[in-house]
Amino acid sequence: MEDKPKSPRRETLAAQGLGRIAAPYREIVPPIHVATTYERGPDGAYPGGRVYSRADNPTYDTPESLLATLEGGRGAMLFASGQAASAAVFQSLLPGAVVLAPRNMYWALRGWLVNFASPRGLQVSFYENASVDDLARLARERRPQLIWAETPANPTWEVTDIAQAAAIARETGARLAVDSTSATPMLQRPIELGAHLVMHSATKYLNGHSDVIAGALVTAAEDDFWGTIRTARSGGGAVPGPFEAWLLLRGMRTLALRVAASSANAMAIATRLEGHPQLSHVLYPGLPGHPGHTVASRQMHGGFGGMLSLRLKEGEAAARRFTNRLKLFKQATSLGSVESLAEHRASVEGPATLCPVDLVRLSAGIEHADDLVDDLLEALA
Ligand SMILES: *Cc1c(COP(=O)(O)O)cnc(C)c1O
Repeated sequence: MEDKPKSPRRETLAAQGLGRIAAPYREIVPPIHVATTYERGPDGAYPGGRVYSRADNPTYDTPESLLATLEGGRGAMLFASGQAASAAVFQSLLPGAVVLAPRNMYWALRGWLVNFASPRGLQVSFYENASVDDLARLARERRPQLIWAETPANPTWEVTDIAQAAAIARETGARLAVDSTSATPMLQRPIELGAHLVMHSATKYLNGHSDVIAGALVTAAEDDFWGTIRTARSGGGAVPGPFEAWLLLRGMRTLALRVAASSANAMAIATRLEGHPQLSHVLYPGLPGHPGHTVASRQMHGGFGGMLSLRLKEGEAAARRFTNRLKLFKQATSLGSVESLAEHRASVEGPATLCPVDLVRLSAGIEHADDLVDDLLEALA
């Protein structure tokens, strides 16, 4: 029997930035390429293979390859933000295209779909995140070009069965795109479960330090649709700056450690706070009582992520009071960073929100779990 060559594991690939060494100085860390334009030869060709940095930039190469490898995809593209990455997918559909999206999803994208893209010809219908039956019924009825999923989904961490959604997409001739921001490729790999595209707000766990806005798409196939998305990125100018791309690779080197620590902290918080007399719900897919726990256990590996939400029995005023009393958790939006954040989500989302007004969203960072639990218990007392 022949030994198959062993390929390094995700943790190793991420820590070493794919192990690439940059010529000519044999640098362990790749350089930042800041040029916007590239010299042509006398024959008009571009001997360096690059033309103009709105199309792409050599600084993207390693973070894109690393992300594609971590997700088990064929290619990846960086974008100026998660919203720019998501918009590029929808912009690549033709006017009149039918899209299914989850009822509960990242609110700014939901708002863009409803208030911006729909008046311009996109037809969007919403399915219940956790109901495969609802998704299947709508898909047979509406015959969508694209099914969008987000799992676990903001801000209640509802879980969608990716393999089942992919089967429904294939049966009805749609593509499945998954917003996997809250899970990261360390815990969940939608392409291995049948998804066509994966979206990340790289602003969150991939960068992980609250200092870069960026987004990314990963594709299962180098097909025509992927080519159209590339045109949407360059034509729409939705590219990140080279410094952001470089910082993103630096952040991804510690992705495995940060995600493991955040997941362990979220689990410790959820376990300690479940059943607290001030709380009606502790929403975390890692708790056996969460409605999405069984599916999450099947499609997530190595943890359930660093995101959870608390609902206060006494309602909105109590939720706001609790958030104001936290000391270590900083009251700010966003998620997936080394520092823990808390926010009263409904007031961030505004009057159109679907988020319960008694809900506080927590992003567990990598601090000591006991400090985080103490901070939460003191603010609840
Ligand atoms: C933040 C976020 C987005 C949007 O990403 P930006 O980088 O802020 O544009 C999309 N989906 C989820 C789940 C997010 O948390």
